[in-house]
Amino acid sequence: MRVVIDQDLCGTTGQCVLTLPGTFRQREPDGVAEVCVATVPQALHAPVRLAASQCPVAAIRIIESDAGDDERASADRARCPAEAERHAAKDERNPGGHDGAV
Ligand code: SF4
Repeated sequence: MRVVIDQDLCGTTGQCVLTLPGTFRQREPDGVAEVCVATVPQALHAPVRLAASQCPVAAIRIIESDAGDDERASADRARCPAEAERHAAKDERNPGGHDGAV
């Protein structure tokens, strides 16, 4: 899955950033939203759909795409500072790398 924002349409409400700060950010100085991942990992498909549905001006567009997105998504992690920080914190808490999921 990919997600894009129509920046001409964005109303700078920040709703998407509040919902998913690791996926969206607001650019300085005008507050227009940007996407900071090229591909959306599987685990975030539902939250991204939620963010898109909550955008008051329908500026968020989802592009369903092919297999292999998760591999590309993990390569994209460092593109958004909030996302990189979140992953770094997770790695510190769990140096073995297992996320506890069964
Ligand atoms: S929710 Fe929509 S209008 Fe608000 S910042 Fe995000 S893209 Fe822009």
